[in-house]
Amino acid sequence: MKDLNKVDARSKVTKPSPAHARNKLNKVKEASLLAAKREKEEALKSAAKLASGSTAKSENDAGGLSTLQQKMQQKLKGARFRWINEALYTTTGDKALEMVQSDPSIFEEYHSGFSAQVEKWPVNPVDVFIGYLRSKPKRLVVADLGCGAARLSATVGQQHTVHSFDLVAYNDLITPCNIADVPLPDDAVDVAIFCLALMGTDFLKFIREANRILRIGGELKIAEVVSRVSDVDAFVQALEGQGFKLARTDASNKMFIMFDFTKVRRSPAKLREAPGLLKPCIYKRR
Ligand code: SAH
Repeated sequence: MKDLNKVDARSKVTKPSPAHARNKLNKVKEASLLAAKREKEEALKSAAKLASGSTAKSENDAGGLSTLQQKMQQKLKGARFRWINEALYTTTGDKALEMVQSDPSIFEEYHSGFSAQVEKWPVNPVDVFIGYLRSKPKRLVVADLGCGAARLSATVGQQHTVHSFDLVAYNDLITPCNIADVPLPDDAVDVAIFCLALMGTDFLKFIREANRILRIGGELKIAEVVSRVSDVDAFVQALEGQGFKLARTDASNKMFIMFDFTKVRRSPAKLREAPGLLKPCIYKRR
């Protein structure tokens, strides 16, 4: 699988019409299944090539699978991960919730693919947030929005009160929900974190929800893949429009850009859409 150096971000993000939106997920699924089919064919071809050559290994290496079978399995896993990833980046939070709840295996597959990517990154942004929280002597209330496997809570959950939310309760630390609508009262948290989690096309709803649960003066911390943010000023402006003030950005990492905002007022009641602010992050095939 590719590392993030090779991550590509698509430039064309348009707000779907209602008719498009209805079919979007199915189309992405179809396209991705096609891609998976193509990859399977390729894997079969390369398997046949290898099998006919003198270098082919036939011994069973792991779990009763031959080297060739393992290679094919990896390819298929990669294809599934890419289509799930793309589906999550090109649909709304509500649709994403529907999708993973109708088939929770999707979430597991996404996470095993995601973890495989993360292992290759020189710095995992979660570790930056963990370091930050560890340095805070005062006990804070933290919301980890789009927490994945909830590593943040597993690591600093003794020192601080960490609420972890994601589409599926991967473990007991996690409350399953769409992060556009989390079960926390208003003004309840000191720090809200989105670590690579602004995936939905309606991610400004996630930001507005973070504003609702944060107290005035509370911190909003975001890490996103650099290539997703084509116009940093426009992104910052959109967040400031939701009641935040930029405290700092950190672009020192080649792969991730980090933003710290402070909540200065409540989000306006009406949400102005800002399509195209964040591009989907599409992983290329190796
Ligand atoms: N923050 C974690 C996981 C990042 S992967 C980490 O850095 O390790 C992005 C996560 O956001 C995924 O687990 C995905 O399921 C979650 N996510 C995306 N859209 C979501 C939504 N609308 N509601 C809840 N979780 C969402």
